[in-house]
Amino acid sequence: MSTVVDALIGKVFAATRENRSGELADYIPELAAVAPDSFGICIATVDGYVYEVGDTRLPFTIQSISKPFTYALALADRGSDAVAEKIDVEPSGEPFNEISLDPRTERPRNPMINAGAITAASLVAGPDLDSRFERIRAAYSRYAGRDLTFNRSVYESESRTGHRNRAIGHMLRSFDIITGDPDEAVDLYFRQCSIDVTCRDLSLMAATMANNGVNPVTRDTVLEPALVERVLSVMSTCGMYDAAGKWVYEVGLPAKSGVGGGIVAVLPGQIGIAVYSPRLDAHGNSVRGVEACRALSNDLELHFLHVT
Ligand code: GLU
Repeated sequence: MSTVVDALIGKVFAATRENRSGELADYIPELAAVAPDSFGICIATVDGYVYEVGDTRLPFTIQSISKPFTYALALADRGSDAVAEKIDVEPSGEPFNEISLDPRTERPRNPMINAGAITAASLVAGPDLDSRFERIRAAYSRYAGRDLTFNRSVYESESRTGHRNRAIGHMLRSFDIITGDPDEAVDLYFRQCSIDVTCRDLSLMAATMANNGVNPVTRDTVLEPALVERVLSVMSTCGMYDAAGKWVYEVGLPAKSGVGGGIVAVLPGQIGIAVYSPRLDAHGNSVRGVEACRALSNDLELHFLHVT
């Protein structure tokens, strides 16, 4: 089996590598300075085996891929009902950083856009900002099965340039979606986006979701199964910015991308997939990441509506 999967990801890697289209994120200098041609693909199984090809051990910032994991922590800390009062689960069809709430419900439309993600960060429990961030970092580390580190220079740049996210934070405060200090919630969000991961880490984080919340290597139970289902649901409908519909149509897996160039995708009960390649399309999704996931989904028949 292993040689079959190794051969397949090798083939997808070689075919996708030729694609040099797209642009690096350049809203902060750290993201504009990464090696544009870096490329890695990992598939982690629920048995804890990781297939990998390319730059799978290179660190990059998790960025928006943090959103489902912090949402999971908020659900665990506050319960699904309390979180649902603050964050809806409808696809927005709007840019991820839109300064708006659903006019009908006066809530952020979902936890994968910034308004919902900043609200989720505000719901993470802890006595102060540092300990709340430490809980987030520790939770992500348990999904990955190793201690993940904080990238201070990315955080400082995010914080220096993050006026739009601050505007979202204050909007949330004015509607009482955030009840504490909005600047603290936004700061926590900047910090979570600035955690370094590798492609291999992301595949294990995804495989932990695929394995019903149990890390397949460490056997640590990170999230209860009922909450895994909720998180994967919003990843299915809202995970790929405003290309979420096309993604489900073509790839058919719950997923999340980030402007750092990572994508994670989950086949429940089977595998976690991660791709890293930092050139992004107009939606903010990794060009090669989308192409590689499409090819893997087709070749391995991973679409969740595929009937064998
Ligand atoms: N820190 C980024 C922001 O919210 C994350 C962007 C992303 O990965 O979508 O602006």
